[in-house]
Amino acid sequence: MRLTILGCYAATPRTFTNPTSQVLDIQNHMFLIDCGEGTQVQLRKYKIKFSRINHIFISHLHGDHFFGLPGLISTFRLLGREKELHIYGPKGIKEAITLFLRLGDSWTNYPLIFHELEEKGQHLLFEDDKVCVKTIPLDHRVYTNGFLFQEKEAPRTLNVEAAKSFGIDKSQFNNIKKGMDGLDKNGNTIPNKKLTFDPDPPKSYAFCSDTVYRETVVPFIKDVDVLYHESTFLDSESHLCEKTKHSTAKQAAQIAKMAHAKQLILGHYSTRYKSIELFGKEAMEVFQNVELADDGKTFQF
Ligand SMILES: [Zn+2]
Repeated sequence: MRLTILGCYAATPRTFTNPTSQVLDIQNHMFLIDCGEGTQVQLRKYKIKFSRINHIFISHLHGDHFFGLPGLISTFRLLGREKELHIYGPKGIKEAITLFLRLGDSWTNYPLIFHELEEKGQHLLFEDDKVCVKTIPLDHRVYTNGFLFQEKEAPRTLNVEAAKSFGIDKSQFNNIKKGMDGLDKNGNTIPNKKLTFDPDPPKSYAFCSDTVYRETVVPFIKDVDVLYHESTFLDSESHLCEKTKHSTAKQAAQIAKMAHAKQLILGHYSTRYKSIELFGKEAMEVFQNVELADDGKTFQF
């Protein structure tokens, strides 16, 4: 998995900071997560192929998370896109986007497929043989979901050296790859496990932005490999959290700790702060493995 942060600051785009958007390269999918203003410019800047984006996940309908979407949809049309584009987001997103398209008489010449969400709880949004994507219910000023991206267990791979050492004939290799046991020259059964390599453990990534501190999120992200959790404020501004329904760096770290996440990435910083270093410092008092998102930064896991 490779995560590229296109923008990770709250509220407004500024000269050197962008609102929320990120791309997750996972098992041949390039999933776009949120689409703040300027996302298509950032995609170009970091050389991400537009044609690889087929699924866009929008957490909620605040502008700093989806105002880049009408522009991106329009650019796809101008680039001559023909493939389907799937958009997952809160109910109302279809109405908002189609209003733009209707007023400009600029309907897409490619199928635009909306998957509107309005229910609480966890829902499966996408699944193929290698990966699945589920919602993470969050608590914000408007209906909001985070997203959980999970790889599935990969098949075991053939250990040719081991097979040869047991005297297994090549004609059995395809069956062994499918999970069957082998037979040596004397007709003895050799268990599949001895003839194959263990697959890499499947990885998972949870995106949680925006949300007030709620321990109810923990069961949905239990044991996740990497957790992106918003940290709009520092603890010194924690009094603003309940009203704005945002979290502090310390609270993000508490969630990561309770969920037994392996790594925490902080983001969605309020632009009131001159430097983001303090966010890392504050979170590390609670949880050790903390990284700071920043525009253009990539994470490989
Ligand atoms: Zn918001």
